[in-house]
Amino acid sequence: MKIAIISDLHSNLEALTAVRHELDKEAVEQIYCLGDILGYNANPKEVLQMVREMNALSIAGNHDHAAVGLMSADSFNLVAKEAVLWSGTQLSEEEIEWVKNLPLVREVGEITFVHATPHHPEEWGYVLTRSHADVAFKSLKTRLCFLGHSHLPCLFEENEGLVFSEAGTVDLKKESRYIINVGSVGQPRDGNPKASYVLYDSQTNQVHFKRVEYDLPLTQKKVLDVGLPGFLAERLAMGR
Ligand code: ZN
Repeated sequence: MKIAIISDLHSNLEALTAVRHELDKEAVEQIYCLGDILGYNANPKEVLQMVREMNALSIAGNHDHAAVGLMSADSFNLVAKEAVLWSGTQLSEEEIEWVKNLPLVREVGEITFVHATPHHPEEWGYVLTRSHADVAFKSLKTRLCFLGHSHLPCLFEENEGLVFSEAGTVDLKKESRYIINVGSVGQPRDGNPKASYVLYDSQTNQVHFKRVEYDLPLTQKKVLDVGLPGFLAERLAMGR
């Protein structure tokens, strides 16, 4: 079975459209969306609608919670806060309810899907280092965990630490457990501005880290046109 995992779309319609186009060419059985559908860029409503059209099984991210008032945006930096609050104003009542009802974790067979960490999903911590991963593995009940949040695609193998951090294919060992960060569709921060997502094939036991180019100048123009901070447009081109 082949699945696709996308995360941190952040209202970037051009990036999600490009990823969707790629997924249309793959025999993907199910798409999972790991949250942060909203925030930062100019098309929260359209991106939310597209996620639903794609029948992506979704969970909530911190930006989604802040946008619909499930948490305060006061812990966000000023630019992120401005964008996330604006995101919420663009949604209908029905869409806000849909976001509010997203779970924080999904466990499906051998896989856990979560936005931040499997041990405390509601605290929005990060898995960035081997010691973070060691803590996460302790409470992980499944063989695999896909997550997002840092916008940095990478893969941790239990007892081995960070074993991979660039685009390409990784052959998983049957006897090992893994935490896999799928990177960000709508605001990559690993220095590569292309949209990031992951394919997992349970038959071949492979994880494919994918990157796809999108119409970035159009996304930047829309950010400026709706009056969001210029820095949010600039950072897209830097992949930061
Ligand atoms: Zn995010």
